[in-house]
Amino acid sequence: MSQENWSAIDHFICDALLGPDPLLEATLADTMAAGLRAINVAPPQGKFLMLLAQIAGASRILEIGTLGGYSAIWMARALPEGGKLISLEYEPHNAAVAAKNVERAGLADKVEIKVGAAIDTLPTLQGTFDLIFIDADKASYPAYFEQAIRLSRPGTVIVGDNTVRGGRVLNPGDNADDHGTRRFYDVVAAEPRVTATAIQTVGTKGWDGFLLARVER
Ligand code: SAH
Ligand code: MG
Repeated sequence: MSQENWSAIDHFICDALLGPDPLLEATLADTMAAGLRAINVAPPQGKFLMLLAQIAGASRILEIGTLGGYSAIWMARALPEGGKLISLEYEPHNAAVAAKNVERAGLADKVEIKVGAAIDTLPTLQGTFDLIFIDADKASYPAYFEQAIRLSRPGTVIVGDNTVRGGRVLNPGDNADDHGTRRFYDVVAAEPRVTATAIQTVGTKGWDGFLLARVER
């Protein structure tokens, strides 16, 4: 099987189970038009995150890595009245594009974008989150996981994106991002408070995966 097949199946899944979504399509179009890279989650993955948030009954969601707000909008759709999603983004330009997309989605009252390096903004956050989605610079995943634990309560769901990286997680070589991904598994495995697994994925985004952890205590 090849990338072509994986993409065809993703399109089949979108047609069968997602349907047209003009708002999210406009979000992606404007994100690309603003010069941002197409490294958002794929639509079936975005809906997967929304469902996870619903299953978890999440009313407080934390995202690390906003880009143009695509995954943030998916997850924020799961929020109840009064719910909140905080998304952390390093690039002011990305944050501005995301803010516009969030506004158009009618989610401005639920989504807050904090600009800055996540390693600096995370320590300023207080309280606990029900769902934490880690999707920024891969080299920092171990540090982000440590902060995610601090911001968790029993039952918090932690999702790490891009945890297979076309198989490079097995042989990180001298790439800092691949190493970060590999060390992410090490720190999760060494954390006695979580139960974790990882799932490989294929689709329009190639061969990658999610790491899923639940905080137990
Ligand atoms: N979650 C998004 C994609 C995020 S892409 C989606 O699926 O739609 C990764 C984002 O992380 C980029 O916008 C990048 O600018 C941001 N980023 C990179 N390093 C960062 C850092 N140190 N702190 C916060 N954000 C960072
Ligand atoms: Mg990602």
